[in-house]
Order: sequence, then C-alpha cells, then structure tokens
Amino acid sequence: MTEQAETIRTAIITVDDDPGVSRAVARDLRRRYGQRYRIVRAESGADALEALRQMKLRGDLVAAILADYRMPEMNGIEFLERAMDIYPGARRVLLTAYADTGAAIDAINVVDLDHYLLKPWDPPEEKLYPVIDALLDAWLTSDHRPVPETKVVGHRWSARCSEVREFLARNQVPYRWYNSDEPEGQRLLEAAQADGLSLPLVITPAGDPLIEPSDAELASRVGLATTPSKDFYDLIVIGGGPAGLGAAVYGASEGLRTVLLERTATGGQAGQSSRIENYLGFPDGVSGAQLTDRARRQAAKFGAEVLTTREVIALDVCGSARRVRFADGTSIDAHTIILATGVTYRRLAAPGLDGLTGRGVYYGSALTEASACLDQDIYVVGGANSAGQAAVYLARHAKSVTILVRGPSLEQSMSYYLIKQIEEVPNISVRTCTEVIEATGEDHLESLTLRNTATGDTETVDAQMLFLFIGAAPLTDWLDGVVVRDSAGFVVAGPDLSADGERPPGWELDRLPYHLETSVPGVFVAGDARSESAKRVASAVGEGALAVMLVHRYLEKR
Ligand SMILES: Cc1cc2nc3c(=O)[nH]c(=O)nc-3n(C[C@H](O)[C@H](O)[C@H](O)COP(=O)(O)OP(=O)(O)OC[C@H]3O[C@@H](n4cnc5c(N)ncnc54)[C@H](O)[C@@H]3O)c2cc1C
Repeated sequence: MTEQAETIRTAIITVDDDPGVSRAVARDLRRRYGQRYRIVRAESGADALEALRQMKLRGDLVAAILADYRMPEMNGIEFLERAMDIYPGARRVLLTAYADTGAAIDAINVVDLDHYLLKPWDPPEEKLYPVIDALLDAWLTSDHRPVPETKVVGHRWSARCSEVREFLARNQVPYRWYNSDEPEGQRLLEAAQADGLSLPLVITPAGDPLIEPSDAELASRVGLATTPSKDFYDLIVIGGGPAGLGAAVYGASEGLRTVLLERTATGGQAGQSSRIENYLGFPDGVSGAQLTDRARRQAAKFGAEVLTTREVIALDVCGSARRVRFADGTSIDAHTIILATGVTYRRLAAPGLDGLTGRGVYYGSALTEASACLDQDIYVVGGANSAGQAAVYLARHAKSVTILVRGPSLEQSMSYYLIKQIEEVPNISVRTCTEVIEATGEDHLESLTLRNTATGDTETVDAQMLFLFIGAAPLTDWLDGVVVRDSAGFVVAGPDLSADGERPPGWELDRLPYHLETSVPGVFVAGDARSESAKRVASAVGEGALAVMLVHRYLEKR
C-alpha cells in the first residue's frame, strides 16, 4: 500500500456527547489533518466503540482518539480504557473542563493518557494542533502496519482452524493468522464481539466477521466463485487438480462452454507439493501451488467457469445429456463430462490418530503447517516421493525431521534424486522398519508409540507434529453402478473396457469406447482417478488435454 493510501485508511476519532462541541472538534481536526487522516466523529462512548470495532475488522488504523471526560453512561476514561483493548497503539487525549483536571491527571495512570486538553482550545493553532502534531509524529514512528487482507483468529490446536487455513492457502487467498490466546487475537475477538469459544473467527477484507464459517460460506465471502452461471454446458469437468485444470484450459480455449467443479480448492494433490522437479519446462522445479494457480488463472482467462466448494455427489444419464448433482439438491447438465477426481490420502488406522487429526496430526498439509514446525522435532510417515518432498520442505523450519518408513529402505518407493537430497539435509533422519501404532495427547498430539516391524520392539517418543503420506485411494463410490470401476475403485476407460473385444455392459453404440472414455458414452476420465494411470502431474495434464480432443470427436460423431 502506498503511504498516501495507508494514511487515508488511518483515522483520528473524536467523541463528545455535546453535538456542538463534537462537530467543532471534528471541524478543527478536519481542517488541519483531513488530507491525510479520516476524521471520525461520535456522540457517545458506545457509538465510538462500535466505530472502532468496525474499523478494526476492516483492518483500518487509528492514530489518535480524543474523548470528552464528562459523558453520560460511559465517561471518557472508561471509554478510553475500552478503546485501548481494540487499538492499544492509538494515542489518547482527554478533553476536560478546568474543574475536571484532577480526574484527567488520575487518568494519566489509569489509561496511560498521552495528553489532556482543556476546553475550549481556541485558537486551535496554539492549543490543539501542536498537541495533536506531536502525538501523530509519535504514532507514525511506531509499528502500525495495516492488515487489509483476510484475518483468521483461532486456536493453534483446533482441527477446524487448521482446515480453514488450509482452505484459504490452497485457494491462494492471502490471510493473516492470529492466535486467539495472543493480545491482537483477543482484540479482534473483542472487535467482532465474539466469545472466543466458537473458532475460527474469519474477518473478510471488507471487515465482516464470520464465526466458524463453512467452506462454502468462506468461498463466497472471500470472492471465490461457487455458483454455476448456466444450467447447461458443453463440458463439465469434475475435479480441479492438474487433470481437471488441463481439461478446463483446453476445453475453454477451444470454444467449449466449460465449467470446472471442485469440492474444496483447485490444485488437487499437486497443489500440496512443495516442489515438483520433474514437470516439463521447470528445470529448477516449481511449487505445486504456483503451477496450479497459473493453470486456474489460465482456465479462467479462456472463459472456463472455475467453481470451488462444489462437490459432485451423483452422475445421471438423461438421454443425450449428462447430469451432475450436488449435495444441496441442485444439478447442472452438459453434453459431456470429464471425471478428474484424482485420489485422496489414505487414513492410518492407529488408535488416537483420528481424534488428533488437525491437532498435530496432518494428512498432507505440510505446506500450510510448515511455519508451526519452527524448532520442533517432527515426524513424517511414508516412503514415497510425497513424504520425501514434505520432509525436505519441513526440515527448513523444524529442528529435526524423522521419516518413518514401514519397509526396510526408501529405494523401492522413492525417486533416487529425492533420496540423495534427503541424505544431504543434516536434520533429516530415516527410520526404516517402523510404524506408528498409537498417538496420544489431550487437546493436541503429545506422543507417538512406534513399533519396529522387524523386532516388534515398541518405543514412545515425544511428538507435537506428525505428517502422514501413506498412499491414496480414489473417492469414486458415488459412481458405483454408473461407470465401470476396477477392484480398487479406479475408473476403467478406453481399451481396458473392451480388452477381449467385447463391448462394456450397457454400451449401445456401434463403435468401441474412445481411449479415455468410460463405460458411459460422453463421460471421460483423466488423471489419477483412471485405472492404471501414471500418477504424475505431467500425465494428468496430458490426459486432461487428450480427453478434450476426444470430447470434440464425441460431439462431432454423436
Ligand atoms: C505431496 C505430493 C507431491 C507430489 N509430487 C509430485 C511430483 O513431484 N511430480 C509428479 O509428477 N507428481 C507428483 N505428485 C503426484 C501428482 O500430484 C498427481 O499425480 C496429480 O496431482 C494427479 O492429478 P489429478 O488431477 O488426476 O488428481 P488430483 O490432483 O488428486 O486432483 C483431484 C481433484 O478432484 C477433486 N475432487 C474429488 N472428488 C470430487 C467430487 N466428487 N466433486 C468435485 N471435486 C472432486 C479433489 O478435491 C481434487 O482437487 C505428488 C503428489 C503429492 C500428494
């Protein structure tokens, strides 16, 4: 923000119950400071506190507060005391009559008063401005950065707070985190008049407080699109990972009316990768969030609608139309569909882990939680590339990172380049033949019990953070009975459906399914959700693009 823009978001607030005096103070302040500061006037302590709360929620700054001493209901000292809870850094001035100077002097200690001004202050050039000039100079030298972006106030070990942070981060919504136990967090709770029991409190850039918002509410309030603009499209893409984004970019750029539906945030698994080193064209690697954010913007630029927090729960065939249904009972139709729903992390079934998920136990959220690992001894479970990348990334913040691997070595499951990287990071150690069999903790993770799979020996270690990357499964149960899936739930497509030359069950067309076409004509699958797929970013993107080509072929030859 430029200095000019910053100061205009900065207010001087004045409160006096006598409307005439209130107007006169505001007029004098405006005359000298109106170019640089917003002058806010109130006629009661309650109104002024409300104005301060609103400004706090919007992230505005308050440089100085001038309050009349003799006000009914709440006198100036009581008001300033409460105002300090919201804006502790604002300079405080009490306006008093001569008879009240005793009270004003007492207030110097009670509310750490910066100055008291005797009324009347005419001429202001002599009695008012020199005082305010000095106070503003003092205020300007202190730290008073504004926070115009989304603010999240929450508890470090709350599962929902962790989910909300992850949701905002994955949607590239800039936010600032405040611990509810810390003074600024308390001030924001006070400004929102929230009790602090229901967390997180999310404050939008416009200053609206949302208590424990759902993902959908959050999405709509921080400017993410959630509602389709049409009820019929050429192409519906389900899933916003690399395959879905690839399909949306190619679909929209080739003139198809395209909508992409994503149940949480775009990016998919790739969005959680700290560094993708094997994607074509990025010799120095690229963070998954950067890559997928660019893809999302590219899809939008070509005119694709990209909707978040829209989980598809059913797929119906309605004559030549394909219909997807949402949990709220609404639906949209299209000529064609590309399933790009990828895979989701498997849960580890050890006692204690479920209750501590989001409270020190995280499935794949290494990026969001990295800063909380500062100087901690942390554990990463998994032997594949995702675990290796997370360990390397977290090691930059943590005191130590221990990778727990069930098997006897990393060689069978992790890329060679990553094993070499891990060997070169001094604060990473690898424990092979080790599994987590229990997690304990009151309101957050405190210890883990580890078992040596070779000897059966167990050991309990202190642990505050555990990150799990233990493989993934497709979430395709909602497609049961609609498209053919393999025994693990992956969607079967193309030649795999007709390996023996037979048509898939229910297939009525003369031709066999196209390469990425499922057992329902016009419904295609791309990326990790496809049976026998490569499980790589590049192949997911490639399949998204190829699926669009097949969509064109389907539309031409229907
Ligand atoms: C930490 C990590 C690091 C990785 N590193 C690399 C790497 O370096 N190089 C590499 O090539 N690969 C890497 N991979 C693998 C790569 O990310 C995946 O192969 C790729 O993301 C698959 O893309 P996809 O679009 O098929 O599926 P996903 O990325 O899984 O995306 C699927 C999306 O669909 C959404 N979705 C699911 N069901 C629904 C529904 N019913 N309605 C709406 N939306 C739905 C999900 O929320 C998700 O966003 C990594 C994976 C992880 C987890």
